[in-house]
Amino acid sequence: MLSKRLENLHPYVPGEQPKDRVYIKLNANENPYPPHESVAKAVAENVLSHSEGLALYPDPDSHSLRKAIADMLNQTGGVLCRSETSLSEGQKNCSPSKEDKIPFTITPEMIFCGNGSDEVLSFVFYAFFDSDRPLVLPEHTYSFYPVYCGYYGIPMNRIPLKSDWHLDTDKMLSEANKTDSAIIFANPNAPTGIALTRAEVEAMIQKAPKDKVFIVDEAYCDFGGESSIPLLAKYKNLVIVRTFSKSLSFAGMRLGYVVANPELIEHIFTVKNSFNHFPVDFVTQTAGEASCKAAWYYAENARKVVEERESLTAFLKERGWFVIPSSTNFIFAKKDGLSGKKIYEAVKEAGVLIRHFSTPGIEDFVRITIGTHEQMEILKKIFLTLS
Ligand SMILES: *Cc1c(COP(=O)(O)O)cnc(C)c1O
Repeated sequence: MLSKRLENLHPYVPGEQPKDRVYIKLNANENPYPPHESVAKAVAENVLSHSEGLALYPDPDSHSLRKAIADMLNQTGGVLCRSETSLSEGQKNCSPSKEDKIPFTITPEMIFCGNGSDEVLSFVFYAFFDSDRPLVLPEHTYSFYPVYCGYYGIPMNRIPLKSDWHLDTDKMLSEANKTDSAIIFANPNAPTGIALTRAEVEAMIQKAPKDKVFIVDEAYCDFGGESSIPLLAKYKNLVIVRTFSKSLSFAGMRLGYVVANPELIEHIFTVKNSFNHFPVDFVTQTAGEASCKAAWYYAENARKVVEERESLTAFLKERGWFVIPSSTNFIFAKKDGLSGKKIYEAVKEAGVLIRHFSTPGIEDFVRITIGTHEQMEILKKIFLTLS
């Protein structure tokens, strides 16, 4: 009765969403701040004044949303926490910091939108990877990549991290060149939180197979990484995947996108149009556009997250924890003498959910999403009771 394909499925396990008790949720890297008020307003107004929008199929290619995303990237340089906000004519605007300014203009033809970046990744895997050679990826990275490899029957070559938890870029390159393989990783990486600089990514793509795509997942870039978007001018095989879920307070609405050269974007459209014509619904397109226009608000939230991240990192280090320096909205930390599972359980008992992975090699760590100042104060008090 069941397909052979089903046997290769090893579904992703998301952070738990318990219903038995109200917890402070610091286990899924969600944004602790609500969307800007203009987002709910735009949705309400559009649904009320154009309620036919709910009855008709949405724009299958999200034209106006892709334009809004392109404008936002040009305005912010793709790293919200470093973008500069200014108040002019009563309206707040964003401009990129000097180091993030994109030296060309991103156009809507360079953007593809999907139902969360998980779906976008699924289309990307379908479009660019085959079962005839392994995909090269880090051993510890976003755990959805191996899930899709199982789903599509793509073999994997998983490269261990170096002893300092950085990506082993030399090994990834030599392995990719051996088999003429595509490469995927998250930058900053998850769950370590470590970012490669743009120069390091460029040094890597220069030596990677040119006839295969090179995928950088920038889900956390807005919290302090360096975006690889400026490299698109030079490297036609570069595919950048990004999401609204983390930095744009959008995890409940589902919106992810690709930035790449228009030829590659066309191929992703072919996959989308062979699976689900309408991955981004009318309400989400409305909300997404409004979010892009409030980039300054999300930039300020990203800066608050960065401030709390640095504060929690310092707090834990002063108390003897090992904390990997993070460029994201979470930290990955451990403490000698305490198992990751024990920390997770004690913190949960005290009313806060964090994440623990039983994956060999990282089982001593916990991953803590950065929340509001108030949430972090509660968490710090809980940590004082652990020893
Ligand atoms: C959260 C996350 C995603 C998925 O984002 P969605 O848009 O919510 O599907 C993709 N990649 C990485 C590395 C992530 O952490």
